[in-house]
Amino acid sequence: MPKKGTKSTKGTDDEPQQQQNKLPDHLELQRTRVICKAGAPTHTEGFQYSGAYAAMGVDTSVSVDKFCMNFKVEVKRLTEDDMEFDMIGVDASIANAFRRILIAEVPTMAIEKVFMVDNTSVIADEVLSHRLGLIPLDADPRLFDYMSENDVPNERNTIVYKLHVSCQKGSPRLTVKSGQLEWLPEGSQLNMAAPAQSGNKQKTYTSFSQSQKDISKESLGVKFKDITIARLGPGQAIELEAHAVKGIGKVHAKWSPVATAWYKMLPEVVLLKEIKDDDAEKLVKKCPVNVFDIEDLGNGEKRAVVTKPRSCTLCRECVMGPSEEQVRLTRVRDHFIFTIESTGALPPEVLFTEAVKILEEKCERVISELS
Ligand code: SF4
Repeated sequence: MPKKGTKSTKGTDDEPQQQQNKLPDHLELQRTRVICKAGAPTHTEGFQYSGAYAAMGVDTSVSVDKFCMNFKVEVKRLTEDDMEFDMIGVDASIANAFRRILIAEVPTMAIEKVFMVDNTSVIADEVLSHRLGLIPLDADPRLFDYMSENDVPNERNTIVYKLHVSCQKGSPRLTVKSGQLEWLPEGSQLNMAAPAQSGNKQKTYTSFSQSQKDISKESLGVKFKDITIARLGPGQAIELEAHAVKGIGKVHAKWSPVATAWYKMLPEVVLLKEIKDDDAEKLVKKCPVNVFDIEDLGNGEKRAVVTKPRSCTLCRECVMGPSEEQVRLTRVRDHFIFTIESTGALPPEVLFTEAVKILEEKCERVISELS
């Protein structure tokens, strides 16, 4: 038995298990944080080996139970077009998998083929087609099928738009906007070159068996009506038909459902000692994004406080010079601030759930291949 007032280096039997399995503070900091010093960040790579701290009685192995216990998603901001949420308890590789899936694998509808009937504008046909391809469409891709090379364009794999604009001679120049693209729910109106047999209907570039109004309750127009497509001078005209199909960003960026999807590790800014008066003022001025503020202590005294740590951009200005020893700048290794900016085809929260489904399918495919 250890004497009263002394401590056994092995710990006593009634010492809580949890306490024995805890790393010393400096190792726990290195394990869970990226430490940002004035020169460069340190401990940027976490320990992946589950037995890294086994000698100290700390189990860092990965298990589904542990993951379920620690994993959390907290939505911080949600609008029609963008979303910011915290993803807590995941490795950077998982956060990055979601980012990549969102950019390259969640499908959308985009204009793929343009049948040019007339284009006397100054924009070349291929440039005009490229511009049309990049216009976000207000069409839910989950209602449509992918179209392979051998498929006939039908109501389940193609959306047809028509654009017919002209600028009359003697009129001022005309701006052609995306809102002038007209959705054709019954399919193509352009006749194919071969003349129809007598009594038969003239063939068009699609073969719809039903109206797309029966498939989608919403109109399948463009998401933003004020995107400039072209400028027409007097006497110029554009007449075309555009066919949109389902695709993914991996094939072409026009199918990417996000303007951007990105994440950063949660910044942690800690004042290691009280910074007062002139030093506090200097520290507040150093930060370009106002992470610090001044607190009035009365009696004419002031001190610096951390008010907006999430805004920290890791510029490291506050750890340069005399304040280096006063501020600790870290990033939480398993806590990600994730931002999704939708192009408009699907709301950002739906995009994330679609990304989760795609990752789930990939995991199931790996498991079935392995077994
Ligand atoms: S690292 Fe830059 S942005 Fe972050 S708190 Fe310091 S000065 Fe502000």
